[in-house]
Order: sequence, then structure tokens, then C-alpha cells
Amino acid sequence: MLARRSFLGAGLVGASALTIGSVWSQQSAPNFGAPTLPQVGFKRMKLGDMELIAFNDGALRRPLGEEFVTNAPLEQVKALLASQGLPTDYVDIPFTPFVIIAGGRRILLDTGFADNGPPTTGKMLGHMQAAGLKPEDIDTVVISHFHGDHINGLRNKAGQLVYPNARIMVPKPEHAFWMDDARMEAAAPAAKGAFQNARRVFGNLPADKLVQFDPGTEILPGITSVAAYGHTPGHTLFKVSSQGQGFAYLADLTNVPSLFARNPEWSVTFDMDKDMARLVRRKMFDMVVQEKLMAGGFHFPFPAFGGIEVAGNGYQFKPVA
Ligand SMILES: [Zn+2]
Repeated sequence: MLARRSFLGAGLVGASALTIGSVWSQQSAPNFGAPTLPQVGFKRMKLGDMELIAFNDGALRRPLGEEFVTNAPLEQVKALLASQGLPTDYVDIPFTPFVIIAGGRRILLDTGFADNGPPTTGKMLGHMQAAGLKPEDIDTVVISHFHGDHINGLRNKAGQLVYPNARIMVPKPEHAFWMDDARMEAAAPAAKGAFQNARRVFGNLPADKLVQFDPGTEILPGITSVAAYGHTPGHTLFKVSSQGQGFAYLADLTNVPSLFARNPEWSVTFDMDKDMARLVRRKMFDMVVQEKLMAGGFHFPFPAFGGIEVAGNGYQFKPVA
């Protein structure tokens, strides 16, 4: 069992803040301008006889304070960013759902915000259109975990399903955690928002729309789920393989890789069980390196997929050109 304390603690404050976006727009925070978004917000990649498309749903520019990396001094965090030629006063956090086109299926991995997020988000649908895809074309949405940036795009503000023809596949332990009413009641006030948001998205779903899967199983031909609990209680990765080529969708195994791949021991404020997240981070990165998988991450810099190499005591993300 995971310690309940860690799930009801600071991590959830981050999760619910992500849902409503308030942490991003504190009035006292200095204005560092808008995040840089890619001109063309989608990128295609071949994987055997499948195609992967990364879509940028926008980004948020977050002033970098002591709270973002919970277990390292701010100077060390800034020094690691500076060593990579990155700004040190803020962090740009992108959001990157992926679409897999395989055997006539069109599968969306995580959703971004649709029209529920701050103004520099919600870009996904426009980019899909530019890539020649309509929301109706998506037949399956696969969810890694229930934080708002990963699920909010399932329903728009008006409550309509954004992908009307899609079955929605969710990790069973993740669904069990967030839909547990007793747990929601027991949660601290600041933590309740994330539970309520899960109900906004998954409440009233027709039973035939929602599929709960056990992490560790093949959920669709060529797509295997991998339990990677820690970031949330049911956080799940996906390995995709076709004709000997492999891709790992790492979801929130790390937040921005410039910090948490380079230093996998560091904890982002959003990791709910930080010790477990740390262990699973190394384990999964080692798997990606050993199996020579292409990797993609939801918060990786666009196009958010590329190679993972061992670098020092951590790992380096090498985006595709
Ligand atoms: Zn996330």
C-alpha cells in the first residue's frame, strides 16, 4: 500500500492547481511573457507500419520558485538549467498528446485541455485539423493518469465529449483512486478539486464508452501498458511496437526532462508519492535505454519524442530533428 499521507499532501495541491490554472497566474509573480509555441504544432514519425503524431496543446510559463523541485536548492536547479543554455527564471511546460495511427485505428494518448485551460493551451484541435484529422476520427482515447492536463480535453467546457466516437481506456487503479468518494471526502480542501475534476470528466459516461484496463496488459494490438505508479497512484506508461521498432510514451514519468531526466532523484511538486516516482523513473528510463526505444513525454519539449541516453548520473533526452 502507498502511504495515504503522501497522496493527500502537497502533490495534490499541485494537481488541483493544475486543473484550475491558478498557480500559473499568481498576481505577485513577475511577468516573464508568454511561452514560445511551435509554429507547426504537430510532427509525424513512422514506427514500423504505424504512424505516430505528436501534437502540441500549448504550454505554460511557470516562474521558477523553491517549490517546483521539492528536494533541491533553487540555485542547483538554476545551475542545471543554465548548463543547458536554458532560462533560469521560469520553466516552460509544454503539453503533448500523441496520436497513433495503426491498422485503421486512430488512438489518442492523453488529451491536453481543450477549452478548459489557460489561454496558451487548448491548441490540440487546431493542430489536428492542420494534420488532416477530425475529432470524430479518433476511435480510442488512452489515458495515462487523471491529472487535469491529461484528461480535461475529453470534455469541453459545455460538457460535451470532444471525441464523440471514442472509447476511453483508463488504468483501473487510477480510476479507483480518483473516483473513490470516501477518499474525496477525506481529502484536504485544496486537494478536492482534482477529485471533482475527475467526476466532471468521467461522470455520466455511458458504460460502453469507458474501458478500465489492468496495467501490464496489452490494451490494443501492439500497445502494452506498463505500471509506473508514483506520479499518481495508477500512473501508466505505454509501449508501442511495430515491425521490430519500439516507442515508449512516458506520460509524466518526468516533468520537463531538462530537470528530471538529467537528475532523476529530483522530485517535481506534482509527484504524489515522490519516493516511488523516483524509483520508477530510473527503472523506466533504464528500460528505454536497454530496449533502445524511441521515447515521448507529455511535458517534453516539442516535438516531444526522440532518444534517451545515459548522461552522468541521469539521462538526456535527444529530440528528433
Ligand atoms: Zn502532466
